[in-house]
Amino acid sequence: MSTEPAPRGRGDDARAFDAVLHAASVYLPEGPAEAWVGIRDGVIAAVSATPLDGPTTELGADEVLIPGIVDTHVHVNEPGRTEWEGFLSATRAAAATGVTTIIDMPLNSVPTTITLEALHIKREVAADQAVVDVGFWGGAVPENLGSLAELWDAGVYGFKCFLAPSGIDEFGHLDPDQLNAALDEIADLEALLIVHAEDPGVLDANVRDGGTDYRSFVESRPDAAETTAIQRVIDGVRRTGARAHILHLSSAAAVPMLAAAKAEGLPITVETCPHYLTIAEEDVPAGATQFKCCPPIRDDANRDALWQALDDGVIDVVVTDHSPSTAELKFAHGGDFQRAWGGIAGLQTGFSAVWTEARRRGLPLDRVLQWMSRGTADLVGLTAKGRIAVGADADLVALAPDDAFDVHAAELRHKNKVSAFDGRHLHGVARRVWLAGEPLDADATPRGGLLSRAQEL
Ligand SMILES: [Zn+2]
Repeated sequence: MSTEPAPRGRGDDARAFDAVLHAASVYLPEGPAEAWVGIRDGVIAAVSATPLDGPTTELGADEVLIPGIVDTHVHVNEPGRTEWEGFLSATRAAAATGVTTIIDMPLNSVPTTITLEALHIKREVAADQAVVDVGFWGGAVPENLGSLAELWDAGVYGFKCFLAPSGIDEFGHLDPDQLNAALDEIADLEALLIVHAEDPGVLDANVRDGGTDYRSFVESRPDAAETTAIQRVIDGVRRTGARAHILHLSSAAAVPMLAAAKAEGLPITVETCPHYLTIAEEDVPAGATQFKCCPPIRDDANRDALWQALDDGVIDVVVTDHSPSTAELKFAHGGDFQRAWGGIAGLQTGFSAVWTEARRRGLPLDRVLQWMSRGTADLVGLTAKGRIAVGADADLVALAPDDAFDVHAAELRHKNKVSAFDGRHLHGVARRVWLAGEPLDADATPRGGLLSRAQEL
């Protein structure tokens, strides 16, 4: 436990803290303990086992103090597809559940974030709508290879690429040669390439007729699509030394190769998502396209193996991959899984869904915070986020971990009220949230900040 040097006596220079939060259980990096957290100028200035001087908020007996959740995989879609989601609705949904930082994906907005101009447009649109802090990923597409440095220097946290068609015409995928070129460039910049890893050849070889049968959809995107693409990334990382991150791992069949790559010391990290950890193929009714995402939700044994990989540290972090569309697109074509929009909106339900399942499996809350707060912050180098420690931003949540609620899709703050978690009984209620030390009201005037990688250096 770290504390500022104790003020000498109670003289004029012993400045009180702007605010003090006290809980019997404060989730510090080293584990939960009773503590007083002193906040000054939006930053955690002291963490103490004894009371601190300042206006003090006592958390309830059933509440614990945790760092705000950091979700590094969110598709806000504004501008251009603002009817799918927007900065105000997305960040209000985030605030309502204790997510205090999101990093926005370079698609499906128009423009996609593949040029400096596009980044400026997105920052301008987000500026007065960000209820929580917002940062940006750039995109690596065939058209901008060779000029990634300008986006990197402008403060994006890394570059997303697809190895198979993205579903959006204006965001092309990289073929194997282009992937290698991107990794060379990423290595030179000491940047981070984040990869949607499905192999187009495997997908082409497994085309199925459309229809409402979910099994047929899973067969059209088999494990081999992921393992083939991930092997290509591993080989490229070994050749270049570039840092790469596997997005939304669905197939547990890829876990052994990822474990081996990590054991070899390759700079590869891995994420999975709440829907892969809490929903199984067996749970998906025919035609229920609210469950469609790519790669797909697989069977129950696969889900267990993903939890094992998390527990073993092969999977590093959990993010929502919040990827909404309009309800019309999501339910178009009468429940045809091949033709409905693929993407699950989970920003407001993700943390509670993962905590509920972790709790059921006997995994403690501090593991979940590592996966969804400190680990995600570290992934993008936001070392002032995701931890309750002196010098960190005072982004904090009073969480009632055992309190429960039922998800009603219609009541979520997502712009489109479609949820694969509708009807679920989840644990973990964010009773109060603080952003930069100030109580955060999701409905108040937005005062979140725009984050830029350069500012962190
Ligand atoms: Zn995504």
